[in-house]
Amino acid sequence: MKPVIGITAFVEDDLSSGLNAAYSKSIIEAGGIPLIIPLGVEADVAQILSLTDGLLLSGGHDVHPFLFGAEPTPKLGKVHPERDSVELALIEAAFIRKMPIFAICRGIQMLNVALGGTVYQDIDSEYHSSKLIKHKQQAARGVATHYVNVTPNTLLHSIIEEEKIAVNSFHHQAVNVLAENLIVAAKSSDGIIEALVHEELPFCLGVQWHPEEQAISGDEVAKKLFTAFVNTCLKFKVER
Ligand code: MN
Repeated sequence: MKPVIGITAFVEDDLSSGLNAAYSKSIIEAGGIPLIIPLGVEADVAQILSLTDGLLLSGGHDVHPFLFGAEPTPKLGKVHPERDSVELALIEAAFIRKMPIFAICRGIQMLNVALGGTVYQDIDSEYHSSKLIKHKQQAARGVATHYVNVTPNTLLHSIIEEEKIAVNSFHHQAVNVLAENLIVAAKSSDGIIEALVHEELPFCLGVQWHPEEQAISGDEVAKKLFTAFVNTCLKFKVER
């Protein structure tokens, strides 16, 4: 039996749910079964997670600043309270079950906010560093454009067994104040948080880049992340 991975859906302007093929393809190639979770299921997250063995928080539009007690700053992008709402409910329910969580791009931001942290609504206007690098690349989605330095002795480091990796970058928001119990697992050279782990869960990893796009382009490090996640979900399935 393969583990089933619930993946939160991207939201279109008319509130239709969708998902880039790279997510489902990466999960399938790692040995899992992807299941897209649409909007509007807040009341039934417990039953949904009884059908899944892992939760993947996918990328997408911006996190609403109300979630961390802030007003919108001028460069905030599109927000969808409907998506925030279902993802917050799923994160809470997954934590209760100690279900493996893999949070990608918007996902790492939602994970941090759900646990009490904040995000920069727009790095370029709010993160003041002369070392700031380009985080919204114009290169193709599978192309790595900046490095991240991996924190030793973290889940991320144990999976990839490298201290510095090259990643793609498609974000203008980033984790700001870290939530309690989350640990920085990687940073870019300008100090932006690029990965987080929650060490009290068997697998709770957030990355600011898009490993699903790198994995389908043949990147071995990105594939290792999906393999480790799906394997942990399988263990969770067997032991639950
Ligand atoms: Mn980046």
